[in-house]
Parts: sequence; C-alpha cells; structure tokens
Amino acid sequence: LWSCDTLDKATSFLHSRPQPFCLPNYVRGELSVPHSPSTQFFDSFEPKTGSILCRVPCTQPDEVDGAIRHARAAFPTWSRTSRAERSRYLRRVSELMQEHREVFAVWESIDQGKTLQRARVEVDRAISNFAYFSTYILHEQTAARMIDGVALTYEHRSPAGVMALISPWNMPLYLLTWKIAPCVAFGCTAISKPSEITSMSAVLLSILLRKAELPPGVVNIILGDGPTTGAALVASPLIDGVSFTGGTQTGIDIRRATAHQIRKHLSLELGGKNPTLVFADSMASSAREKTVQVAATAAFENQGEICLCGSRIYVESAVYAKFVDEFEKYVAEKYILGQTVSAVASLQHYNKIRRYLQLAVEEKATFRLGGVPPPLDKESNQGYWIVPTILTDVAPESALQKDEIFGPVVTIAPFEDETEAVRLANDSEYGLAAVILTTDGARMRRVGEQIEAGMVWVNCWLVRELGTPFGGMKSSGIGREGGQYSRDIFTVVRTLHLPA
Ligand code: NAD
Repeated sequence: LWSCDTLDKATSFLHSRPQPFCLPNYVRGELSVPHSPSTQFFDSFEPKTGSILCRVPCTQPDEVDGAIRHARAAFPTWSRTSRAERSRYLRRVSELMQEHREVFAVWESIDQGKTLQRARVEVDRAISNFAYFSTYILHEQTAARMIDGVALTYEHRSPAGVMALISPWNMPLYLLTWKIAPCVAFGCTAISKPSEITSMSAVLLSILLRKAELPPGVVNIILGDGPTTGAALVASPLIDGVSFTGGTQTGIDIRRATAHQIRKHLSLELGGKNPTLVFADSMASSAREKTVQVAATAAFENQGEICLCGSRIYVESAVYAKFVDEFEKYVAEKYILGQTVSAVASLQHYNKIRRYLQLAVEEKATFRLGGVPPPLDKESNQGYWIVPTILTDVAPESALQKDEIFGPVVTIAPFEDETEAVRLANDSEYGLAAVILTTDGARMRRVGEQIEAGMVWVNCWLVRELGTPFGGMKSSGIGREGGQYSRDIFTVVRTLHLPA
C-alpha cells in the first residue's frame, strides 16, 4: 500500500484484499510500516461482516519521538511560509480529495461500518475542512486600536508549534481533517493519530498529501493505540499543543498527563449525553411530522455514533403518549437495519451497548423497539448489528439516562412544564449539544439560553457552518474549534504597543 503513488493504485490493491496486510505510518512524506523490534500489530475488523480487514501497527514511543522530531524540523520553514502558499496547498488537497471522493466514501464505510450514504456526507465535510481554512487564512484581519493617543496597539499571532492531533473512530476522516486543515493553515506542523479502530482513511489521505507535495514533515500521521502511541505523543516535551477529540475519560487522562506542562495548548472535545426537548406545541398537526423526523434523526443518525446525537428525549406530558407512538412508528419505518442503519464500529463497542441493553432488561425498562442483541466474540465471524432501540420507563438516576451509550439507543421520558424540561436537560455531567422542538418563538430563546450545552439547535439538528464555535460545556470539553476558535488553538498571541 505504501508504494502506491496514486489512490487508484491503492484502491485496486485494497480491493484485491491481500491478507494480512499492514497499514503504514506517514512520516516525513514517506509511507512505511514501523519496524521497531517491539512493534505490535492489531487486527482491524470490518464492522459489517466481523472479518479481518487489515493490520494496524502500534507505533512505539521511540518511533513516535522520531516522527515528532521530523515535525519539529519542518516547523521553522513551514511557519514562515506565506499564507497564500499555505492556502494553495490546502486548496490542492481539497481538490485531490474531491477527485477521489467516492474512494474515500467506500473505504470509510467498509472500515467504520457506516452507510455509504453517510460516509459520502462526511467525506464532503472533510473536503470542506481544507477548502474552508484555505480561504479563511487569506481573509483574516487584525484590527489595530489607538490607546489614549499614546500607543497603537495590535495583536500579532504566530503559529503555536508542533501539534498532536488525536481523533476518534466515529467520523474518522472528517475529524482527522477537522484538525489537520486548521493546524497547517495557521502554520503549525502536525503529528496526527487516528483511532486504531479506523485508520484506513488516514492512510488514503496520506497518499494524497504526498501527491499534493506538502513539504515532508509538515503533516505526519502515525497509527497506534491510546495507551502506547497516543500517550507517548501527548506527553512528549517536544509537543507544543494537543487537539483531542474522544471520550471524556481519555480527556481527563490527557489533562493529567500534561498538567505539569503549562505551555502546552490543550483543546478537548469530549463526550455527550444530549437532550432533545419536545414541547406540546411542536406536536400540533402543522409541525408534528418535522418534530418526529428531527428527533429521530438526532437519535439514530450514524447508528447514534455521533457525539451530538440526542439520546435522551423528554416530552411534555400532554403529548407524551402521542409522541412515543408516532416516534416508534417513524423509526420502525425509516431506520431499517442494513439500509439506513448500519453496523456499530467494533466488537468491543457492540458488547458495551449490549451490556446497557441487558441493564435495561434488569431495570424493567420498556423496549418500544429493539431488544438485547446476541453475545458475539471474535470467533462469531458476524457483523456488529444492533436494531434501533427505544426505551421508556427508565429511572432518571439509571446509567441508561446518565452514561453516554454512543449507539442506536434512545430513552424517552415525560416532563410537566418548561422549568422541569430545563432541569432534566441540564441533569447531566455532560454539556455538548441539545435540541429544542417548539413553535413558540419566545420559548426558543428563553429555553435555549438556559441549556447547559455548547450547541443548541431549535427545530433542526447538526446544521453547521465551519466558522461557528464548536465545543462542549461541563465534562464535554475545554475550548472551541471552528474559524477563529481554531486559530486560538493553533496560534500564540502577543499584543504589541507601538508609539503613536
Ligand atoms: P477514545 O477517547 O477512546 O479515543 C479517542 C482517541 O484517543 C483514539 O485515537 C485513541 O487511540 C486515543 N487515546 C486513547 N487513550 C489515549 C491516551 N491516554 N493518550 C492519548 N490518546 C489516547 O474515544 P473513542 O471511543 O475513539 O471515541 C468515542 C468518543 O469520542 C465518544 O465519547 C464521543 O462522544 C467522543 N466524540 C466527541 C466529539 C466532539 O466533538 N466532542 C466528536 C466525536 C466523538
């Protein structure tokens, strides 16, 4: 795979399914499989079939260190490259990705398990990440201010340095590029580590970065797990900052590992257990169809494997029974396993979701749809399929209401009035996103402004512009990403006072 100079060659290689084959790292512009004597390899499985897809190296700390040193060597030149030149590189990468859009979508769908349709949406967003920041850096302006007629003051920003970019398995290419694009746009160099569960699209991207002739060392992509590769990367004193997206516990581990390195920039985009509030007015005949559709999409898009999914639905009691009936009917009709709903990402994740569904049985919750799927192990040779599951009669303190399950499982509970709706929505350690379904304009703002979440959508979900701040409150993260917020992660700022 590493000798393929085009994506067409790479994909015909992949289609021949040679077994076993190993995915390579991308370091200093070269693709190669790490060969440290202690390197171990993981099997990576296809979620839809449970069969082995490829082997992923677990890059060892000495090789992580080598990659960081290459990124450091590339930094002085890259950080001084003009914005126009950086912009051209980013534009070139977005164009190459556009040419190979379908290749990325097909392999992302095979590797992560998502539907091909969903993969296409995410590849388009990944392409936009490069296109957006290639334009953003050309138009960014800094205003100067005169202070008391004595000094002319302005902010000067410099690239923050060598950044560790760590991403999860649920939207592999989209989240990988959501970090790489702004990182190099703002003049930093990068060591990126995708999830060990879904490393394929990172390798395809590496082939394109090489083809785009991005200077060697500017972007390096190393493969491996969290405890070995990820931990060595974030803790390295040669890393100036970490942009991390993943689970809250890992965010805590990274914060702890870097606590003594005050100079290290830290951006943490973490988990969520997001509420959807359904007010009675949104179930009037004119709005009902949209209400049910938005709540269902928010719950089950990508099998519920999106950090922003609305996995706790609260419904005003006057329309509770009606909503539950219509929601159940809609989900049963539209979310069909193998068509609009696909396999979950890994065997480990399947078994985690299964344990929560067993708990639902033990706690005597009502399954309006779905049930407990069969136990699977590596020998089962079967895909990781879980029917969309709707639970009612779940106690507020149950782990089913508190924990991020991150799968096709949603709970529904009633509320009496607006005050209780806000209280229930905020009754979570997380604060990533929320959906409010109402036709009352005053309530949209009144409730929206009280919800403890970084992103609140009213009568819609996942609408996004790349300049808006993205990130969570409470245990859902630190910092924001997007447009100028990404700039804050990847630059350091000094204020200059010049004589007037
Ligand atoms: P995870 O935290 O297990 O892993 C994420 C990444 O961190 C992987 O690349 C992993 O190898 C690495 N990692 C693990 N331990 C590490 C360590 N000690 N040091 C450095 N790196 C380490 O998360 P996951 O299971 O891959 O992803 C699911 C989670 O991601 C969910 O909680 C989901 O909500 C969250 N997520 C959040 C957002 C967001 O924008 N807030 C977006 C997508 C996913």
